[in-house]
Amino acid sequence: MRLIFLGPPGAGKGTQAKLLTERYGIPQLSTGDMLRAAVAQATEVGKRAKAVMDAGQLVSDEIVNEIVSDRIDQPDCAKGFILDGYPRTVPQAVALDGMLAEKGLKLDAVIELKVDEAALVRRMENRVAETVAAGGTARSDDNPEAFRRRLEEYRVKTAPLSEHYARSGRLKTVDGMADVDTVTADIQKILA
Ligand code: AMP
Repeated sequence: MRLIFLGPPGAGKGTQAKLLTERYGIPQLSTGDMLRAAVAQATEVGKRAKAVMDAGQLVSDEIVNEIVSDRIDQPDCAKGFILDGYPRTVPQAVALDGMLAEKGLKLDAVIELKVDEAALVRRMENRVAETVAAGGTARSDDNPEAFRRRLEEYRVKTAPLSEHYARSGRLKTVDGMADVDTVTADIQKILA
């Protein structure tokens, strides 16, 4: 099972991807998590990505395409994977189509979580409050200024991806405003 989740920041992609990893026994490939790990380890990629991420902008296509291509080759991806936060631009989607074709792999579904933008800022604020209450540290890009920028990047660069996948008949849409269990059930209906 090879899946892509599309949707703006705070739409619930990560939450749903995690639930599906348990159900299908396949990994969640979050480019955001991979980049945050690179930043924490101060790798070359991490050093290049940190300021861009903190500003709420997108890291270059070249960097993320390479990270994803290498990750897909790992043995735990043999049965499939769930892409969360990638692709995020049309050139990334084209690169993904190319790398999958080269590896002899096919996508099973592209699922878009549709959400009302006004709810997203509230969700981000809740995520920060929950993380802090649990003794953790909030993401450095979960602040109003960077979040506004991330939404803008989504509108300009990522929203056109829906059209890319709709044109090839691969796009499925789910109401991401419903509660978590309903969203999960709707996704499972699509995958059944
Ligand atoms: P996320 O955890 O998916 O919200 O991603 C956090 C940040 O990582 C984004 O705001 C970008 O700066 C960067 N990032 C994650 N995935 C990508 C991607 N596919 N393309 C470019 N930048 C990305």
